[in-house]
Amino acid sequence: MRLLLALCLLCAGACRTGPPNPSEGELQREARSVVQDPAFTLYSPYDSAASAEFAGSVRAELALVRALIPDTRTEVLRLYLAPLEVQGELRAWETPSNRSLKGAATEGEYAFVYVPSSMRASAALERAAFMRGGTLRHELAHLCANRAGLAGAAWFNEGLALEVESMREVGGELHLHPFPVYLHAARLTAKPGALVELLHWSNGDRLTQSERSLRYVWAQGFFRFLAEQQPAQTFVERARAVHALSDSSLRACEAAWLEWLGALDALERIRAGANSGSALERELCVGVLPSLAESRVPEVLTRAADEFALAKLGESGCADAAATFLLFFRSGALRAEDLGRLEQSGEPARVLAAQALRCRRNEPFELERARAAWRRVPENERGALYVITLLIPGLLGPD
Ligand SMILES: [Zn+2]
Repeated sequence: MRLLLALCLLCAGACRTGPPNPSEGELQREARSVVQDPAFTLYSPYDSAASAEFAGSVRAELALVRALIPDTRTEVLRLYLAPLEVQGELRAWETPSNRSLKGAATEGEYAFVYVPSSMRASAALERAAFMRGGTLRHELAHLCANRAGLAGAAWFNEGLALEVESMREVGGELHLHPFPVYLHAARLTAKPGALVELLHWSNGDRLTQSERSLRYVWAQGFFRFLAEQQPAQTFVERARAVHALSDSSLRACEAAWLEWLGALDALERIRAGANSGSALERELCVGVLPSLAESRVPEVLTRAADEFALAKLGESGCADAAATFLLFFRSGALRAEDLGRLEQSGEPARVLAAQALRCRRNEPFELERARAAWRRVPENERGALYVITLLIPGLLGPD
C-alpha cells in the first residue's frame, strides 16, 4: 500500500491539482478479495466477509442508478475500493479523502472509491451502509451516464452526477431533492463570468480546492437550471435534452441562470412538494428540512418555516422530519403560544411534541400528560414519534 499512502500524503499537503488517479493495474494489485456479481465485479482491500457487505451496498446503489439511467450495454462494471491510509478511526460521516478526490470513474468502464485501508471488522457493516448514496452513487452515476451515451463536458458530467448523488431514496426509487444544498452554495457564489469559467472547465485544469468546489456547485446549479426548462418527463430524458444543447445556446444563458439562482427559495420548493397529492412526495419534501437547517439555508430558519413544520406535525409520514427540524434547530425560536396550541390540540403526536419542546427549552414539562398521550398512540404509529419520545426523560420507563 506504499503507493496509495504516498497519494494520501500528497492530498493532505497544499496540492493544487489533486493526486493523479491510480491506474487500474495499481488498483487491482491492492485488492485482497473480489466479489463477482452478474452486474459488477468488486475489488476490495478487505477480507471476503467485509467485501460481501460492501458488495451489498454496490448492488443496491447500482440498481437505483440503473433504474434512473438505463443502458443496454452488457459488459460487467468494475468497481474498486481503493485503500488509503488514514490516521485513527474515521467517524461515520467522514470519508478517507475528505480534502480532495473521493473517487473517480473512467469512460464507462470502471470506477474507484477511496476507503480506509484497514478497519475493525465490526465497522465494516457500518461503513458499507455509509457508502449508500454519497461518493459510491456519484461514481456509479458517471459510469451509467457514460454507458447510456450521456458523457460530455466536465460541467455536464459533474452536474448530472451531483444531481443523482443528492437524490433521496424513497420507496425503493431515487427522487430529485427539492433543494440540494449545492444550490444554496451556487447562489451565494455565482457571479457574472462564472458561466464562462464553468463551460471552460476541464478535469485536467490546475485548480485550488476552493476553485474546484465552486465548479462542482455551479455545475449542479447549471444542470438543474437547464433540466427544469426541458419539457421531458423523466430524469434521463431531461438529461439527454440538456446534453444536446449547443455551445452557443449555453453561453447565452448566463443572465437567465444568475437570475434563476437569485430567485431560488428552498422553502417555496419544499412547500410545493408538500402540497402534492402524492404522500411519497410530501414525505420527501418535508424530510429535507432538518438537513437544510443544519446547512444554515436561511429561508428554512424563519417563522414561516416553523409554522409550516408545526402544521406538518399532524401528518403521518411527515411528522418525524417536522419534529426533528423543530426540536433540534428551532426549539428556542418557537413562541410560547405555539406550544400552548400543540397541547390544546389534544392530538397525541402534538401533545408529545410540545412536551419534548419544553424539555429542549429547559422548561418544566408534564410527564403524566406525555405518558397519557403516548398510550393513545397506536402501536404502528409509534416508530414515527421516535425522536420526540427520546427527548422526554422517563417517558418510556416504568410507571
Ligand atoms: Zn464526479
